[in-house]
Amino acid sequence: MAMSIGMRMIFRRLKALGLENSVTMRALRVLPAYSAYRETYALLQESRGWSRERLEAYQLQALARLLDHAYANVPYYRRVFDERGLVPEDIQTLRDLERLPFLTREDLQNNLADLKATNYPETAFEYVTTGGSTGIPVGFYYEKGASRAREWAFMKTQWDRVGYRFGDKCVVLRGYIVGSAKDEVYWKKTLFGRWLLMSSHHMTEETLPAYIDRIRRFRPRFIQSYPSMAVILARYMVDHEVAPFPTVKAILCGSENLYPWQRSLLEEAFKCRVFSWYGNSEQTVLAGECEESTHYHIFPEYGIVELIGRDGRPVEGPGAMGEVVATSLMNPIFPLIRYRTMDVAVLGNGPCSCGRQYPLLEKVEGRLHEFIVTKSRRLISMTAVNMHSDVFDNVAQFQFYQKKEGEVLLRIVRKPGYTDRDTEYILRELEKKFEGDVDVTIRFVGKIPRTRRGKYQFLIQDLPLDERTYRYESHG
Ligand SMILES: [Zn+2]
Repeated sequence: MAMSIGMRMIFRRLKALGLENSVTMRALRVLPAYSAYRETYALLQESRGWSRERLEAYQLQALARLLDHAYANVPYYRRVFDERGLVPEDIQTLRDLERLPFLTREDLQNNLADLKATNYPETAFEYVTTGGSTGIPVGFYYEKGASRAREWAFMKTQWDRVGYRFGDKCVVLRGYIVGSAKDEVYWKKTLFGRWLLMSSHHMTEETLPAYIDRIRRFRPRFIQSYPSMAVILARYMVDHEVAPFPTVKAILCGSENLYPWQRSLLEEAFKCRVFSWYGNSEQTVLAGECEESTHYHIFPEYGIVELIGRDGRPVEGPGAMGEVVATSLMNPIFPLIRYRTMDVAVLGNGPCSCGRQYPLLEKVEGRLHEFIVTKSRRLISMTAVNMHSDVFDNVAQFQFYQKKEGEVLLRIVRKPGYTDRDTEYILRELEKKFEGDVDVTIRFVGKIPRTRRGKYQFLIQDLPLDERTYRYESHG
């Protein structure tokens, strides 16, 4: 903050001197981003060695700063405190956070203007939208030049764990549409030729050999991908016995839940580490695997994470499951306090052998809308359905669709070898998984469309899912 006010003064002076387009001015514009990156990265280098007590003290201090700021400068939170007869000093421990209400997506949308901190100039706000997949698009604000830089410092810290260095060659499969079918080029280079963006919309049985050939010639060290995109490539490679890419050190998976069957398929095809993280664009929570484990390590510097059970209270202890509710310590320009992410996760058993004293998530079960609801209204996570087993050998693509409790439609795109025996096998296995509590109907289709952002959805959940009426229950 102090820094950006200082910067604004310098800008004003340069402007007064008629130098607003000078090289100095342009250089100064990227400085705040660089310094936000550097400061955050330095903090993360230091704090990875902190004790649990030290980390908690850091969080408490950051929280106190955030609450003071929100009370003083954010009309929505001034109202929230006043209505409850509270002042920021009433929140002394992380547990005290419970005295503040949850912030839902709806609250966020209905109070967009009142959630903006009034002590920032209008030019500092960058409007961002996300969340097409949940059906409820969410809009919110970043701090221009700073939010993305801080985020990148966290991502770099995460990728350091699998040896990522600046300038490493990466193949990127993240929902881009690039190139065209006309000239049969489905990719383009970016970042000074170090990243190869590949179109996820053009990946088909016909075009995949060209993709694989291009990746091999590019010699990437990493593949960044939505899990569902990497799986299309991996499945093809396994089915056609294509050799893995010898230069690839790790598959970096984010933005979608990584199911266990996807991880094992990716490992089988690429013969390297599959490295996954969990976060959201609202920047309230970020957690990633480490060098030694596949549990998600929550960055305490990024946000304060609570797992909330169906009674609305925090759950505790390894194995406990709840909705991720998170308070961002990252974005004071648009504070999100006790933000309901609609993601369901399971607490891990820490501390990890890597030495970091971070809280752990054993797994992320997915978004609330990624569950199938049974007749007795239990929620069954998609994690429970293993599409990498031989059950789906003759299936090219599939998708579950639910619009009634206890009933699902399974859409299947058949491979040439598919017979009635596959249908029987699939139904029998699903019957076991669902314990007879879900009726499955199979429908054969020619094609399963991807979402607008090129993602591949395994379940279209059309039920009006409300976390208050359904119970979280994992059958994994
Ligand atoms: Zn670890």
